[in-house]
Amino acid sequence: MPQTDNTLRVILPGKLIDGVHDNVMEGTAVAIQGNVIKWIGPASQAESLDSAGAERETLEFPNATLLAGLFDIHTHTNMPGDGRTGEQVNEDDNDEIRLLRAARNVAAALASGVTTMCDCGSWNRTGFALKEGLAQGIVEGPRVLVSGPPLTVTGGHLWYMGGEADGIEAVRTRVRNMIKQGADFIKIAASGGSTSTSDPYRAAYSVPELTTIVNEAHNRGRSVLAHCRCTDAINSALDAGVDAILHCSFYDNDGTYRFDQKTADRLAASEVWLNPTMGLGRANRNRLIKIKEERSLTSDEETRLDRSTISGGNSLAQFSTLVKAGVKLVGGSDCGWSYYPFGDFQGEVLSLHEAGLSPLEAIYAGTRSPAAALGIKDSIGTIEPGKEADLLVVNGDPSQNLEQLRDVAAVFKGGVRVPTVKERAGKERAGLG
Ligand SMILES: [Zn+2]
Repeated sequence: MPQTDNTLRVILPGKLIDGVHDNVMEGTAVAIQGNVIKWIGPASQAESLDSAGAERETLEFPNATLLAGLFDIHTHTNMPGDGRTGEQVNEDDNDEIRLLRAARNVAAALASGVTTMCDCGSWNRTGFALKEGLAQGIVEGPRVLVSGPPLTVTGGHLWYMGGEADGIEAVRTRVRNMIKQGADFIKIAASGGSTSTSDPYRAAYSVPELTTIVNEAHNRGRSVLAHCRCTDAINSALDAGVDAILHCSFYDNDGTYRFDQKTADRLAASEVWLNPTMGLGRANRNRLIKIKEERSLTSDEETRLDRSTISGGNSLAQFSTLVKAGVKLVGGSDCGWSYYPFGDFQGEVLSLHEAGLSPLEAIYAGTRSPAAALGIKDSIGTIEPGKEADLLVVNGDPSQNLEQLRDVAAVFKGGVRVPTVKERAGKERAGLG
């Protein structure tokens, strides 16, 4: 892995989206040194910057845009993103294989421009081990914040990851244990999900249990992210004061989709971050449609495609309305899950634009908003002096065409330039990888 040196690097992009000013800047340079952003200012003044005796280097990207590295608030690093369910991965693989897969997944994410991510649920110790491997430089990847196994009721969503806890005392102990093991935030399965022994349309925890979890986590400075696939769970999570609601879909207890105005009003009036995970649905549909072009789908695949088409339409309509009502959206791909492999968080950012965010707002939802939701906006998420030099350069101007976010020209993590997806592929072709 390349080491940080003390060279003063002046980056001269065609355009700059710093995440602070609500416009795209031109003629602005950014200087980085060591692991931090040292200076931002007019390109004409960059020449006279004092490098404090260190080497100087100028990097020009005249036809590209510089922005903060992407931050994906919702991933599952143990998961393959090849359509296998969590239960299949639980049966087929072991923790060693899941950890190796996590190492490969995070490397793919970094090369695609994601410099920070949350692992919102991994088996047993694997998430913590991944973090230790990254810290020791054994594995190359973004900054990874981990929850460990999500807190879930007995038989609840993701129970197989190892986080079952019921009742006030047990959930309190569980939160303390997760923090002891190294959890950066707490993830709760507040409703059921795809796990067969759970019910996605029912709240899993009681409000007193959720409140205990939130109080305990907040007391230790950890944010709480709650998976909610029904309206009841959303309201319980709001009652308890969680920081972010994942999925946030309006389903009644019988599985009927129904836009709930009262809940929408509560969400709009709250400070909670919502992660729609609409990119996941789209990735699934695209994958299944592609399979369908090659062979006929199995009945299970047909059912998945039909369900996804309907729920995707409901989600888009729901979040379009919620955006107009003023909710705060945050980007999280849920990649690893279903047919969403690592390496295209941009798909989720694009889906937020589809729901009504402007391209710049969608970029903020994938950079500074996750940092705010996790309580680390003082160190990452925008391009400001003193912050970590986590940077992304993309060709063209994503504020004009958000698709350009996928055309990655350079990635920096903590001041170190790391290979992009294209650079990695080129190296492999040349036999250097
Ligand atoms: Zn998830």
